[in-house]
Amino acid sequence: MNTDLTALEKLDDGRFRACDTQGRERIFEAVLFATGRVPNTQGLGLEEAGVVLDKGAVTVDDWSQTNVPSIFAVGDVTNRIQLTPVAIREGHAFADTVFGGTPVKVDHTNVPSAVFTRPEAGTVGLSEDEARAQGEIEVYLASFRPMQTAFIGTDTKALFKLVVDKASRRVLGCHIVAPGAGELIQIAAVAVKMGATKDDFDATMAVHPTMSEELVLMRKPTSLTGPAPLARVPATVSRREPGAIALESAPLVPN
Ligand SMILES: Cc1cc2nc3c(=O)[nH]c(=O)nc-3n(C[C@H](O)[C@H](O)[C@H](O)COP(=O)(O)OP(=O)(O)OC[C@H]3O[C@@H](n4cnc5c(N)ncnc54)[C@H](O)[C@@H]3O)c2cc1C
Repeated sequence: MNTDLTALEKLDDGRFRACDTQGRERIFEAVLFATGRVPNTQGLGLEEAGVVLDKGAVTVDDWSQTNVPSIFAVGDVTNRIQLTPVAIREGHAFADTVFGGTPVKVDHTNVPSAVFTRPEAGTVGLSEDEARAQGEIEVYLASFRPMQTAFIGTDTKALFKLVVDKASRRVLGCHIVAPGAGELIQIAAVAVKMGATKDDFDATMAVHPTMSEELVLMRKPTSLTGPAPLARVPATVSRREPGAIALESAPLVPN
């Protein structure tokens, strides 16, 4: 993650030798190259209409309104968070605000998302680095082989991480790498969005034997970090692992 390829070579055995911009060279069975996207705004006449763009993306305010009051933009073209539910919510808020008489702003914080690889990755809220830049945090981490797949002899691993604000105990971020992480993070996102604290998680009874019970069973932080990061200790190993181990004033819109 967060690197770029400098060379990719297919080997005789079907695997790939990958070299990256950090000077690393490794052989993988599969390589995932995520390139990103750019807004397709050329030729729409936006510049001629005086609409401000930022690298092709339409610049909008919290109401999805551009600098030209009669022009709004929602979805990927605004390059806020490029996900289907976000585009839908932004469109809904625009319609409510401008046509429905109910001014609504979309809250772009704590938007959950998932990467549907195998295993899946799901995330909501701040990353460890983002949270650390804001102040003192605790990180709770569990990395283990889930019981239900270990029993059938697979080597599937799961990772659960909670990033917690040390002072308020509020859970700032939840990150899961596991089979079904997309489904799991959707539910965890409700708690994070509601402002749940680590104590709320701890007070929640576990569902046993599940993977996600780790979310309510991690008792000791694996790292305590603030603006000056402290030393990390290794991730915990699950004890359950077999084998032991609003309303505001509406924007002004011309008629
Ligand atoms: C490969 C891929 C996988 C994705 N997977 C997910 C996922 O799993 N989950 C998720 O939440 N999001 C996913 N996304 C992102 C999601 O597709 C977008 O965030 C979402 O479609 C944005 O909706 P939108 O209405 O802003 O843009 P779009 O859905 O792109 O709609 C824009 C429409 O405008 C049309 N158009 C463009 N130019 C013109 C023009 N000049 N005149 C008239 N019409 C025009 C286009 O044809 C298109 O129909 C994925 C995106 C890609 C590319």
